[in-house]
Amino acid sequence: SIVVTGATGHLGRLVVEGLLEKVPADRITAVVRSEEKAADLAARGVRIAVADYNAPETFDGVFSAGDRVLLISGNEFDKGRVGQHKVVLDAAGAAGVALLAYTSAPGSLSAALADDHRGTEAAILESGITHTLLRNGWYNENYTENLAPVLEHGAVVQAAGDGRIASAARADYAAAAVAVLTGEGHENATYELGGDTAWGFDEYAAAVAGQSGREIVYSPVSTEVYAGILTGAGLPGPLAGILAGVDASIEKGELAGVTGDLSRLTGRPTTPITESIAAALKN
Ligand code: NDP
Repeated sequence: SIVVTGATGHLGRLVVEGLLEKVPADRITAVVRSEEKAADLAARGVRIAVADYNAPETFDGVFSAGDRVLLISGNEFDKGRVGQHKVVLDAAGAAGVALLAYTSAPGSLSAALADDHRGTEAAILESGITHTLLRNGWYNENYTENLAPVLEHGAVVQAAGDGRIASAARADYAAAAVAVLTGEGHENATYELGGDTAWGFDEYAAAVAGQSGREIVYSPVSTEVYAGILTGAGLPGPLAGILAGVDASIEKGELAGVTGDLSRLTGRPTTPITESIAAALKN
């Protein structure tokens, strides 16, 4: 089977959709925390396994010898994600899976956010499991799904200076994962995935302005001010600090690298940020 964890998340759903176009539904297993949330997938014939990264015993019997697995990194920053991911690695290794692909972070990213990914990569190498490291760059949607305050205040507020981002749509990263899970020749490969072009927040503000007909400027702030704005909006302090750290990395150009790995894997150009802005404004 092809087994996808985090299958009811944003990326996981796109991966399962892509797999359904290529393989019979009963060859796909969606690993989910909530059976109800996966009811639509079950109705389409996808096999469902209920398991939680925090409960090793729930992974008993989830994997079989020869499976191809996509481990989608979790989002519980406070629960020790490396340990969570090791739970999956242990179960996959014990079952003798053929390949495990992992959604990691760019190798150039020095921000604290990347620590869990580096720790997980080290655990994967140590496990000896045949693997593919999908070092996913930034999603366009990290920005375009948060347009409400931008439109309300007429400002894109970030702490990234004139740093640039080679982002791509989630759907592009999902298509790359599908290519690896259904293709050949990706054993023990590391891919640095990102958009075909990099953009800056001044261009982003101009694009949102052009498409929405509103006046919108980029307002660069310090990482301290940015973290304060995020906590003011209700984010927990540690998470605000992590996100401010990402902006500092963006300013240093750590997310601006263009490798072409993503469009090569998917066989199509990556989705421009302007297209994701247009999609978001339609909703
Ligand atoms: P989502 O938050 O939509 O999905 C996260 C998935 O992880 C969900 O399916 C969630 O399950 C699952 N999950 C979380 N904790 C556990 C757990 N303890 N046990 C089992 N499953 C768990 O994120 P995306 O799909 O958008 O992105 C996928 C991952 O990529 C994120 O989790 C994060 O690690 C990373 N990411 C990358 C970004 C980038 O720009 N490259 C931006 C944001 C995140 P459930 O559906 O039950 O909630």
